[in-house]
Amino acid sequence: MANKLVYFFGKSKTDGSGDMKALLGGKGANLAQMTRIGLPVPPGFTITTEVCVNYYKNGRKYPAELASDLEKAVKWLEKETGKKFGDIKNPLLVSVRSGARDSMPGMMDTILNLGLNDATCEGLAAATHNERFAWDSYRRFIQMYGDVVMGVQKRSENEHEPFDDVMDGLKKEVGVKEDTDLTAQQLQELVKRFKKLIKDRTGKAFPNEPMKQLEGAVQAVFGSWMNERAILYRQKYRIPDEWGTAVNVQSMVFGNMGDDCATGVAFTRDPANGENVFYGEYLVNAQGEDVVAGVRTPLKISDMAKDKILGPAYKELVEVRKILERNFGDVQDFEFTVENKKLYMLQTRNGKRTALAYVKIAHDMVKEKLMTPEHAIKSGDPEALNQLLQPIFDTKAYDKAKKEGRVLAVGLPAGPGAASGAVVFTAGKAEELAAKGQHVVLTRIETSPEDLRGMIAADGILTARGGVSSHAALVARQMGKVCVAGAGDIEIDYHKNLLKCKGVTIKEGESISINGTTGEVFQGKIDTADSELKQVLAAGTLKPKDSKVFQYYDFIMKLADKYRTLGLRTNADQPDQVRNAIAFGAEGIGLCRTEHMFFEGDRIIAVRQMILAKTEQARKAALDKLLPYQQKDFEGIFRALDGLPACVRLLDPPLHEFLPQSDNKKGQDEVAKQLGTTAAEVAKMVHELHEFNPMLGFRGCRLGIIRPEITEMQARAIFQAAATVLKEGIKVKPEVMVPLVGFKRELDLQVAIVHRVAAEVMKATGKKFPYHVGTMIEVPRGAITADEIAESAEFFSFGTNDLTQTCLGMSRDDSGSFLPAYAGLEIIKTNPFASIDRSGVGQLMKIGVEKGRSTRNDLKIGICGEHGGDPSSVEFCHMIGLNYVSCSPFRVPIARLAAAQAALRHPATAPTSKPAKEAKPAAKGSVTRSRSLART
Ligand code: PEP
Ligand code: MG
Repeated sequence: MANKLVYFFGKSKTDGSGDMKALLGGKGANLAQMTRIGLPVPPGFTITTEVCVNYYKNGRKYPAELASDLEKAVKWLEKETGKKFGDIKNPLLVSVRSGARDSMPGMMDTILNLGLNDATCEGLAAATHNERFAWDSYRRFIQMYGDVVMGVQKRSENEHEPFDDVMDGLKKEVGVKEDTDLTAQQLQELVKRFKKLIKDRTGKAFPNEPMKQLEGAVQAVFGSWMNERAILYRQKYRIPDEWGTAVNVQSMVFGNMGDDCATGVAFTRDPANGENVFYGEYLVNAQGEDVVAGVRTPLKISDMAKDKILGPAYKELVEVRKILERNFGDVQDFEFTVENKKLYMLQTRNGKRTALAYVKIAHDMVKEKLMTPEHAIKSGDPEALNQLLQPIFDTKAYDKAKKEGRVLAVGLPAGPGAASGAVVFTAGKAEELAAKGQHVVLTRIETSPEDLRGMIAADGILTARGGVSSHAALVARQMGKVCVAGAGDIEIDYHKNLLKCKGVTIKEGESISINGTTGEVFQGKIDTADSELKQVLAAGTLKPKDSKVFQYYDFIMKLADKYRTLGLRTNADQPDQVRNAIAFGAEGIGLCRTEHMFFEGDRIIAVRQMILAKTEQARKAALDKLLPYQQKDFEGIFRALDGLPACVRLLDPPLHEFLPQSDNKKGQDEVAKQLGTTAAEVAKMVHELHEFNPMLGFRGCRLGIIRPEITEMQARAIFQAAATVLKEGIKVKPEVMVPLVGFKRELDLQVAIVHRVAAEVMKATGKKFPYHVGTMIEVPRGAITADEIAESAEFFSFGTNDLTQTCLGMSRDDSGSFLPAYAGLEIIKTNPFASIDRSGVGQLMKIGVEKGRSTRNDLKIGICGEHGGDPSSVEFCHMIGLNYVSCSPFRVPIARLAAAQAALRHPATAPTSKPAKEAKPAAKGSVTRSRSLART
């Protein structure tokens, strides 16, 4: 490798800086930055992410010069610290840690105290005059090295950690409770037993030579980039495999040398609710991993102020808190160690936070001029905004549960919100029950990264041990899961699969409820209610001025609107859905699926009459019955839109979807009775309409072409509604959208009908209304011949649900049986039906845009497939120059933030014509359940 492999940070020189995250990883870059701004950072060096990338590219082989560069780096560090690797009198000890560009808490490996062996341990004891400390450090090193490098780990989910087992055995033998009660001699014995465990399990001896230890550790950390949990984490958070991790080697400082030592983790603000308070925890006489691992429940950081010995270090920390926010322009999550009263900074990173904390912190820090507005937008996770819509406990049910004395325990409120579900004690069980559609609360003594799958599946997470920065809390917050951590009164028995608390026993599968905002744990189920945001924006039961959450959210959304160039629409086909979407920021309807209206009330009878009609006359008679229904629906929608555009799609689904299928004889009998025909006649029609692949059959514009009276009726309903609403003084902007077009001629036939009907309605009503006719692009031929189609279409909307299934040749309805395996085999990176397959479907879209605008340069183009609410797809839509995205009402805030982020990331690719500002002040509507839709 030609590039520099190792970057130093220390007093004599610092090669890196905070903006080099891609090369040095987040941890390496920020260690360099903290060193640069004069914070007390123990010196060290970073091996670049490029080494990791190369390692995997070259069949897991390191660049030839790595070994010698590593040796040189160690020599530099020896000089910098005045200590020596392997020196018996004054040994240099280092930590070896991973550090990807984005932090992946707990997913990769860390090794501390490297450099210790029997001889240097004696040296360390002599140098520090602390034998116990030296042996404690040594046993920790062997434990971590044995686990991470040599693979001595538990072999099943319910087995104890093997090293913990050995330690617990010794503690029992000598009759002590806490790890800290073990004497130097006992720890020496523990070291022997640990080494034996390694030999027994691996057949190999623990390596004595520090340079050998370092090589092994560096390799293990690079190797951990590809461990199962790191891969899973990257999939969930869409971190590219190609980024690789850096490795940080840093000289050790010790928080476990006595009572004037401590180690801690702190946030510059509260990452759960965003309050501007110093937030964190520490342990006296402990080493870093003890805090995050949740093994001992730590003390609150504010308690440190009162500590006689550690008080001065706390004062320094308060200063550091300010310096960090000022320098990094965001909330920092940092690790520190106090060694013999002296403070050291071990790492800092932008703190992971809940959506609530995100909006509050961004709001506050922008106002305090500590954060740039651009960063306020860029640092949000659009998908996480969903958390603000998540339920809270129903007040009445909650009060009742309290009165009934069902509070079992109170832990730490680590992830806000309310969760109620079946108790499970293993990640596997959580996945199993969640797959069956059950709500579950994953309950563990403490969580470890192996529990990640279960945490993803669970509605809530409860732990008996661990603080607010324990693994469970950290991961839960990031995922937006409800979490109560460290509920110490709860006793969990993994063998019997039950928990006990206050004399109550709850077995696996029984209900439990947790309040992640207060930390309460309840026996039994508690009903949940709408979130504050929904109460303000959808239900209208709470006033904006009474909701701080709304005010912070609104600040961010308005800021996002300043940056985004994409327009925002919604997929909605009922007035209440439209009102909700507008309240969340939609500027019109991007897709109104008219078929959903056909299922309402008893109009389905007329639909079926229309399908079963033998003559055109009979069909027209049935359609005449439907016309007033459809017209009324459109009137409601136009009124709700109050002048915003409404893109209404003509009938699309295969007709058999409106009839009871052949396995529903009872339903067919009923339909026959309703329509005054025979069951045999209905069955015959069902048979005739049956298709082998209905998604490629008689549907879309093919329906309106073969049965033009359907298009005629729908166009008439749309335009008569437009005229009626216009008469009421409300503006209307109907857009008629023809589905599944692949040939220009298909569109022409439909456009002719629409124009004729529009003229007829205008004449009959004496009202002139503006309208447009366009098409969906959802089959590859439509995209490829977009130049021809654009001659007849005034707008395009990408139907990426169908475009994905037709481009990939994968059914949107049953590809679930193999897609997970495809992801596992890395054939696909993400589900193409959820996030646009940029290199396949995306290229068809690009062709569609370019060709479409080549014949009609002001062609308005949007997207209305499910992808319109997916942040990565929204970014892609911005990049290829679409005018707007359309998504379901409750995903509008997500698309809104994602669109702003896309504009900031890709300033050069804004759409050619900026969308007209269609936004209106937020209106309030009422919430109703959205109907489960046949094909969404
Ligand atoms: C699409 O295909 O993307 C689309 C929006 O239409 P539907 O999902 O109704 O087929
Ligand atoms: Mg479609």
